[in-house]
Amino acid sequence: MPAIKFDPAICQSCETVDCLMKCQYVTFKNVTDAKTEKLKINNGERSRILEECLTCYACQEYCPNGNNPFYLLVERQEELGVLPAPKPIVEEQLRMMQPKGKLTAAKVTSPVVNMCAFPMLTGCVRGSLFEGASVIAGNDLFCNIMWLHFAKNSTIRERVPHSISTIMDLYLRDSGIHEMVCFHDECYGTYTSVADAYGIKVPFKPIHLFDYINRRLDSLSACIKPINAPIAYQRPCSNRLCPETDNILDEIFNKIGARRVPRKHDRENALCCGGVPRAQQRDELADELVEKNIADMKSVGATYCVFNCPFCMATMAQEVAENGIMPILVSDLVLSALGE
Ligand code: SF4
Ligand code: SF4
Repeated sequence: MPAIKFDPAICQSCETVDCLMKCQYVTFKNVTDAKTEKLKINNGERSRILEECLTCYACQEYCPNGNNPFYLLVERQEELGVLPAPKPIVEEQLRMMQPKGKLTAAKVTSPVVNMCAFPMLTGCVRGSLFEGASVIAGNDLFCNIMWLHFAKNSTIRERVPHSISTIMDLYLRDSGIHEMVCFHDECYGTYTSVADAYGIKVPFKPIHLFDYINRRLDSLSACIKPINAPIAYQRPCSNRLCPETDNILDEIFNKIGARRVPRKHDRENALCCGGVPRAQQRDELADELVEKNIADMKSVGATYCVFNCPFCMATMAQEVAENGIMPILVSDLVLSALGE
């Protein structure tokens, strides 16, 4: 497998070191300090960042040069044996999420919506928004991006090509379909950003859920009953890999009359939902992140907390609801604006 795509000369001449200076979880004395640590990572040496990193993916977005700082950081964590979570947890997750080989081939029709390893969420694909959709799901289709949180680039390299060939062999090729809607932007990030950086070929066109919904709303515009409510958006880590789609989400919110209230922890300053540190057994940090996010949402008077990531929603929904804010997925919010 090829090495992670990155150019050390670009970092060498980088004056801002945005990847680290904008990091919300690791602090630096100044830009020289940040650059020293970054160059250690680039050179394959140990840096304190490898231990302190929350694995929030944000440096992928912060780098103005597309030089894949986070993917390289994970590479170094794995090479140097710096595991962000206890080893038994990583091993248990590796077993739990491995391909099961239980799916069978089926004819599918457009739009094909990939629910990844979460078949329990297939009920989200319903109504006029997803009319005529074929849904595919299962461990054998798992996008495997979660291993970025566990210093397991090797698992991404081993399992993502398997998922791609399963999608092609069981569904797309024989059905003559060349596009696949990714319900979760983890999948979209895998088949675009990760695939490009890790040198993995993707023979189909991944469509982001926001892109699909935005276009579909143009056909359904006559049915929209505006939500007319202030909403807080909980931007997930995986959206850092496709930040261009955040503008499409704004278009969706505008079309359904949802007001995305500016708050401290949205857009580039989004804070982790707490799910990753919880999975890594860093409970105090997880609690702190949930509290900070909810306080921020309450301070701007949000009535809905909108999620795109089911994992963020599972992590925060109960506490969000207990604080008087309605937790909801983007697709369900759109369906409710369509009266469904
Ligand atoms: S990864 Fe990007 S932001 Fe960070 S030092 Fe390199 S070029 Fe600069
Ligand atoms: S992944 Fe997040 S926590 Fe880790 S270095 Fe990058 S910005 Fe900081």
